[in-house]
Amino acid sequence: MTPFFYLVMMFLFGTAIGSFSNVLIFRYNPDLNVFSPPHISGRSHCPKCGHNLSWYELIPVVSFLIQGGRCRSCNAKISWQYIIVELIGGSIFAGIPLFLNSFYGIAGKAFFAFSLPYWYYCLIASWILVFWVLLLITVIDLRLFIIPDELTIFLIVLGAGITFFLSQNIHGLLTPFRTSFLQQYELLLAPISSIWLSHIAGAIGGFLFFLALSILTRGRGIGFGDVKLSFALGIIFGWPDIAILSILAFIVGGLWSVGLVILGAKKMKDKVPFAPFFVVGTLLTFFFGMAIVKGYLGAFGL
Ligand SMILES: [Zn+2]
Repeated sequence: MTPFFYLVMMFLFGTAIGSFSNVLIFRYNPDLNVFSPPHISGRSHCPKCGHNLSWYELIPVVSFLIQGGRCRSCNAKISWQYIIVELIGGSIFAGIPLFLNSFYGIAGKAFFAFSLPYWYYCLIASWILVFWVLLLITVIDLRLFIIPDELTIFLIVLGAGITFFLSQNIHGLLTPFRTSFLQQYELLLAPISSIWLSHIAGAIGGFLFFLALSILTRGRGIGFGDVKLSFALGIIFGWPDIAILSILAFIVGGLWSVGLVILGAKKMKDKVPFAPFFVVGTLLTFFFGMAIVKGYLGAFGL
């Protein structure tokens, strides 16, 4: 089988996970854990007419398209959120291995032949889960202004896992710079050579930065849920990547809020969920961290 075939399979699997994520997101009740039985069990039905969905109405992406985005029973419109979350799920499951293999210089053939050390597969799986949890957090925060604690704790566990798996890189599968998404540019930001110290410092650094912002904005701009999330992202990314991530999240969040006030869509004291900006900061750092720092320095002729 070619790597392409495996990537298509990963994508399809990801759309099914996306479909399951929609169930978790729509049934989420803040009084219960995201993963508690009432959120997971029970058949899927149309929120309008209660019509129970058959297997052929539950095929990710395909059912939505065939039915023209409507319920087969009552013709009510189905939210675009369903298909968008399914497609994002597919993109995460195929895109993260694809990107990280290319970032670390790993051939797709070797990866899918399972000939690499176990910790590398665990590292990729952890990153897939990180982005999946961030997807859940984003949609739940957009809908309810809540970041469920159990999802933040899940991220902290994944961050500890990522730190451990990176620390297994003793035979040089990944070149030293490559543990930072800023690559050689991390040298400009006081890098910490010990993987564990770097990721613990990242957690503390992210936590303190957003705790200070939360106190300055008296919890209106940045809530304590965001402060806890910054701790989780710090242990996932380590120092100095978390510094770039935090600054990018802060800039994008600030520009967005100011833009909404100028356009008259929001007032200064209106609440804006912050988690989506953390996700934007995460995506920018993960995919473009090095290019952004390089471009920033280039603007000053460095
Ligand atoms: Zn219906």
